[in-house]
Amino acid sequence: MSEAVSIPEAAALLLEQKRILILTHERPDGDAIGSSFGMREFLRQCCGCEAEVVLPAPPPERYQELIGEYKTTLTPEEVAQYDLILLLDCANCERIACGPAVDPVSLPELSRPPMLNVDHHKGNNVNARWNVVMPQIAAASQLAAEIAMAMKRPLPERAATFWLLGIVTDTGAFRFSNTLSNTLRVTADLLDCGANLECVVNAAYYSKPLNQQKFEAELLETQEKLAFDGRYIYAYIPDELFAKYDFDMRDGEGVIDLLREVAGTKIAALYYRKGDCFKVSLRSKDQRYPVGPLARGLGGGGHDMAAGITLRGMDQKQVEALLLEKVAAVLGEREED
Ligand code: 5GP
Ligand code: MN
Repeated sequence: MSEAVSIPEAAALLLEQKRILILTHERPDGDAIGSSFGMREFLRQCCGCEAEVVLPAPPPERYQELIGEYKTTLTPEEVAQYDLILLLDCANCERIACGPAVDPVSLPELSRPPMLNVDHHKGNNVNARWNVVMPQIAAASQLAAEIAMAMKRPLPERAATFWLLGIVTDTGAFRFSNTLSNTLRVTADLLDCGANLECVVNAAYYSKPLNQQKFEAELLETQEKLAFDGRYIYAYIPDELFAKYDFDMRDGEGVIDLLREVAGTKIAALYYRKGDCFKVSLRSKDQRYPVGPLARGLGGGGHDMAAGITLRGMDQKQVEALLLEKVAAVLGEREED
């Protein structure tokens, strides 16, 4: 059974639990980190809960200091000890960062704690026991903060700082069109609770390692391409470039923004090889040309203005050609009206 619940209902549900396991999506970004570690902090400090976050792969280096300790794995028996799994910012089961041992989907149903799915992705298809899925909300961290505020207890500064991190990063520091008046109201409430903006901004925007800056300079110099009168901008990251600068996309949350800052561009794409697949990131900066439907059409997902796809069974040239074709359709179709 799967049901949609409101924010106050989710708050009431969390208050009934003693042990909560928090999971988020693979390659966690600022919102994944912010929503989950903010909730861990809040549940521990304000609800007397035993709350843990499991991250099987290390999070981006820039958030390491803010996060502190976290679990990297649990056995299925340990997972079964939890009363509830709280899944944050994750649109589908395949993207849950849990590692095989913790995988709540493959665990036998009887030993699987029920799941509360809190997310803001259109097309979320997790179908947990309880679901708070609100695509109009800018960040999962905003939803987490609203759930906590519904419990009517003071928010710890650390939790407020984590949720501010998620809101700031998922709105591109309030530059993206997902920034609404309710986003700013929750942000104001978090600042009133002592959220540390300096700490958030320094971690998210002013902590780039030198090797990353040099990696980005060479990427733009050698790989950046424009098409369709400069309305589409894209780059492929060759394996050799990652190796040359010892750079990993785990820390690459902001790389695609370098492409879309170019004047006149509407859609940006960045793609690279990952094992036997290609990982594609897509961004739009014009609501007339959303990239979410394009991504979903190719088996990916995300938001209208920020989406991603994992493509299998293709080589680099085929990926480039496929994206050119699909982006042309998005730009062209809308051009005629
Ligand atoms: P990013 O480009 O930052 O990796 O992801 C942008 C958005 O697209 C995120 O909200 C993420 O949920 C979604 N996304 C990224 N990669 C994939 C993917 O391989 N599959 C699906 N379904 N969604 C993705
Ligand atoms: Mn998010």
